[in-house]
Amino acid sequence: MKTPIFAANWKMHFGPQETRAFLTRFLALGPPTHDRTVIFFPPAVSIAVAGFALREHPEILVGVQSVHWEDKGAFTGEVSAVMARDSGAKVALVGHSERRQLFGVTDEMTARQCAAVGRAGLVPMLCVGERLDERDRGATLPVVLRQLKTGVSRLSPAQIASMAVAYEPVWAIGTGRTARPEDASVVHTAVRRALRDMIGGGADSVPILYGGSVNVETAPSLLAAAEVNGLLVGGASLDPDAWARIVCT
Ligand code: PEP
Repeated sequence: MKTPIFAANWKMHFGPQETRAFLTRFLALGPPTHDRTVIFFPPAVSIAVAGFALREHPEILVGVQSVHWEDKGAFTGEVSAVMARDSGAKVALVGHSERRQLFGVTDEMTARQCAAVGRAGLVPMLCVGERLDERDRGATLPVVLRQLKTGVSRLSPAQIASMAVAYEPVWAIGTGRTARPEDASVVHTAVRRALRDMIGGGADSVPILYGGSVNVETAPSLLAAAEVNGLLVGGASLDPDAWARIVCT
């Protein structure tokens, strides 16, 4: 597996000015960025500013939090993968649980979004994860694997081999509850197996990130867990000092 990935999902935080201030502070802290992959997912309006602030650090990537599945058209309020790419994004989150829960994104929509992201030449990072009621009735793996299989259904094997997956149990996002490393490993291992069933050995290059209330204290044990190749972090990525410490994990 490649170097570990540290991805910051800023959600609806940090417009252009705040983005510039954050990244100036973060870079001043000098966290290691050459032997790991660091990705920022700012709001779409801040992607270009983030790219400019990071212009001397091409190893740090900028991504987009969500895209429409069409390249252009009458879709008020949406941005396309092509537009995000033109703004400097290299990666696109697809199917984040907040998009699924608050904005009605379905598995089929994630398939079309992944296809659009792949068409635009960006890397899709498909988010999968079960709700608490699904976990309580023992449906974690069926839910996660359904989301995974449908989400990648419009991608070629080569596109799947170069995508990323983020396992984010919904009950752990923004709640302060984190999955135990061994529980995350069970899901990550099942995701890896499902990817191997789909595309064979190419599946081994797909990073599988864990996300859900990761912080400075929990990051090391989660990152050390089997099949955990990186971390997708929301709340704890909003403070440049805390985020720099997590990136040092
Ligand atoms: C997320 O939104 O992707 C996330 C993991 O959030 P948090 O770290 O705040 O739970």
